Amino acid sequence: MTKREIYEAAYHVLDQRRQEALMDAKRRRDLALEKIPQILDLEDQMAQSTIKLTKLVLSHSADISEIMPKIVSENLAVQEKIADLLQSHQLPRDFLKTKFHCENCRDTGSAQGERCQCFNTLVRQIAAEDFNRSTHMTLCHFDDFKLGYYQGEDLETMSKIFDFCKLYAAGFSLRSPSILMFGRTGLGKTHLSLAIAHEAIQKGYTALYGTAQDFFSKIQDERFGKGEEGANTTETILETDLFVLDDLGAEYESAFYTSIFYHLINARLNAGKPTIINTNLLPKQIENRYGERVSSRLMTLYKCLKFCGTDIRQQKLWK
Ligand SMILES: [Zn+2]
Repeated sequence: MTKREIYEAAYHVLDQRRQEALMDAKRRRDLALEKIPQILDLEDQMAQSTIKLTKLVLSHSADISEIMPKIVSENLAVQEKIADLLQSHQLPRDFLKTKFHCENCRDTGSAQGERCQCFNTLVRQIAAEDFNRSTHMTLCHFDDFKLGYYQGEDLETMSKIFDFCKLYAAGFSLRSPSILMFGRTGLGKTHLSLAIAHEAIQKGYTALYGTAQDFFSKIQDERFGKGEEGANTTETILETDLFVLDDLGAEYESAFYTSIFYHLINARLNAGKPTIINTNLLPKQIENRYGERVSSRLMTLYKCLKFCGTDIRQQKLWK
């Protein structure tokens, strides 16, 4: 999706939210009027006094500063009366109020001449979802993670890692630490990181996930003008709340990829945003391949989880 398409999609969502809020308010209003027809008379009263006020303002025939407060308090009294009526009919006092998804911008996307936070969140969400669809990875659940595949000391270690990941997901926030999961292939690193991403998304955070090859090749294409027009994967990665980089080390070796990787982890660390990296490489191999600057950041600033056991995919094949 191009940036323009993402913005259009975000406005489309806002439009839908607004329509839904208005339709819902209308449904409630119809219901209230059916039960309490005198609401119409009271609303009419308020409309009349507004018309009276407008006429006075236009004709300059009276001192507005005296009349205005009187009309305002009259209208407030009528509103109170309507609320009392609703309540006496077992309806909430604010039953007639239009309830927008975002009260700040009333689902228009801007307030006080500025773009609303809800719009920015939507843009991040849509960009992340678009990317995630293209990586063909599916989100996982903690419930499907089977500790039965691990034995002895491995089981003990993996139980701790499993509990840590569950707690991490349950308490996920923008202040959560970054995680480096390492260990041989097929030990559940992808599964647990995608289960964390899943919970983060359910909590309303944006999460971006894919393999190192997915991300790095897209960024490279975009850098050399071969990417989708207007797409900016680097920006999407830096803006997402949680970034899951899967299978680091399985991508082609290139100096360009290494520099992308350094930039991404550094920028996210500076922004204080959590990242989860999975790799089959050992710490020494990470250092050899990506350099000391990268490995020291990962080893000291990330929470390191060392996965152990016997390849689960292999075990499943034997059964
Ligand atoms: Zn808003």
